[in-house]
Amino acid sequence: MYNIKPSVQAILDRGGTSMDAAVILTYRCNARCQMCHTWKYPSRREQEITIEDIEKLPSNLEYVNITGGEPTLRDDLVDIVGVLSKKARKVEISTNGYFTNRLVEVAKKYTDIRIRVSVEGLPRINN
Ligand code: SF4
Repeated sequence: MYNIKPSVQAILDRGGTSMDAAVILTYRCNARCQMCHTWKYPSRREQEITIEDIEKLPSNLEYVNITGGEPTLRDDLVDIVGVLSKKARKVEISTNGYFTNRLVEVAKKYTDIRIRVSVEGLPRINN
């Protein structure tokens, strides 16, 4: 089911004036959320999107969401954010927040990025 190369999943054209993108860096994940099947079908590192792929994206993106799997599992996350920061006005990382050191490293270097931490769970725990 997830045996496809993580990539740029969607670019939405909003009336031809701006574009958003979601860049799926990996289908690997350190978490095991019960409602999610991504971690059951991890990508192999050699399948994953490369910086060279990302450099080919348009340079006039309004917003890009860096996601996965868990994007902080990519060793080259800082470099990827660097490339995408030049291509998009707003850059956001969707993460489970587990690897805080990696997130702090990125946020210190690219102070304008947004970090969205998902806290998954049942209502009794989440609410
Ligand atoms: S953190 Fe996200 S990708 Fe990982 S198992 Fe949970 S929902 Fe799935």
